[in-house]
Amino acid sequence: MAMYSEEDMLMLSGIQHFAFCKRQWAMIHLEMQWEENERTARGKQVHKKVDTYRARESKKDMLILRSARVSSHELGLYGMCDVVEILTDANGNIRSAHPVEYKSGRPKENDCDRVQLCAQAIAIEEMMGINVPLGSIYYNEIRRRLIVQIDKELRDRTIELSKEMHEVFEQRATPKPRYGKWCGHCSLENICMPSIISDNKPVEEYLMKQL
Ligand code: SF4
Repeated sequence: MAMYSEEDMLMLSGIQHFAFCKRQWAMIHLEMQWEENERTARGKQVHKKVDTYRARESKKDMLILRSARVSSHELGLYGMCDVVEILTDANGNIRSAHPVEYKSGRPKENDCDRVQLCAQAIAIEEMMGINVPLGSIYYNEIRRRLIVQIDKELRDRTIELSKEMHEVFEQRATPKPRYGKWCGHCSLENICMPSIISDNKPVEEYLMKQL
């Protein structure tokens, strides 16, 4: 298993962008472009609420860490968990840990949020030396937490994506756009202009539309 060094670490939160669209990730993380739209602004508000409680809290046998820093040398990723709920035994030894990610919207059809949560779980396992079989995603729009199984399929996908992220980062080449209905949900659509320059959408089609 390849282990990344400190200098090679990339931002863990980027894996959700990479899973959504490699070009989006590259524009944010390689080119540092970010067009704030309503969606991302709302997301920040939800995270602000969590961050204001940046602290430890104890409830019976549960220790709650907020805005906990995590990193994984296996994935080559570092970042933050909104919340980690840690169950301890009578001697204070860690029995289990459960990451919780807060999202402003509602559950999505794609697996971007689950992949991000899985990367957090793998990082916690590496740091604490325990198994993390479950995590949760709290969606603000439905005001509910959904439990996510950190199973082999999700782990394999997360490991594969992180590997690819490092490869694209090494090449320093922003992938071409892949135009599709998902672009309508992308905060970078105005600067990416996928309908003009993508491989799968001829320029003529765009020009005809404009005319
Ligand atoms: S507009 Fe589409 S192709 Fe461009 S970055 Fe966003 S999702 Fe990717």
